[in-house]
Amino acid sequence: MARILIVEDEKGISDFLKEGLTEEKFVVETAFDGAEGLQKILNNSYDVILMDWMLPKMQGVEVTRQIREAGISAPVIFLTARDTVQDTILGLRSGANDYLKKPFSFDELLERIRVQLRQKETSDNNVYTHRGVKINQDMREAYVDNQEIHLTQKEFDLLLYLIKNKNKVCTRDEILDKVWDIHFEYDSGVIDVYINALRKKIKAVKDINIIETVRGVGYIVKD
Ligand code: CA
Repeated sequence: MARILIVEDEKGISDFLKEGLTEEKFVVETAFDGAEGLQKILNNSYDVILMDWMLPKMQGVEVTRQIREAGISAPVIFLTARDTVQDTILGLRSGANDYLKKPFSFDELLERIRVQLRQKETSDNNVYTHRGVKINQDMREAYVDNQEIHLTQKEFDLLLYLIKNKNKVCTRDEILDKVWDIHFEYDSGVIDVYINALRKKIKAVKDINIIETVRGVGYIVKD
């Protein structure tokens, strides 16, 4: 269940949102000023934050700026009566993901929340698994049967590229282009060296070979 924090000083609006969102099966928490909101965000994990613009103690823009500085990437949707272009830009620059003008319809808010949740899901899913080999793109970590294997940067990029393109033959030219960023005729022997290194590192943990050679063409990772 997704957790939502409402940072809003007007109790009427806060109550209304909390009730509606709870009915939609979200877990809802509230904060009534900017400082309280900041503390809660720093100490908890939320999937979406609804942030009023004008708040006592600390403005919504400032709260957002500070949580981004702290490395928190939870999506922030501003709820505000301010609707000039400058304010919108300021809000988005502070690190907000979306912007909704008061008064807004609950259905529209709900839709905006769902958009943010979908985007978050995609980014959380930057993890690719294949026959016990797991790659976490965001953390740049690779595992074989949950044991971490240490790859060089290019080995990692190469394995990630092959696994992302599972069940498709990756030609040598494509690999040079996408992994090495080389766009001209080049001795692609370097790829074999990296493929062999990858196979060895995987095999050191588990006796499998997930990268098949397609003779004269390239490589494939197959289900
Ligand atoms: Ca307010």
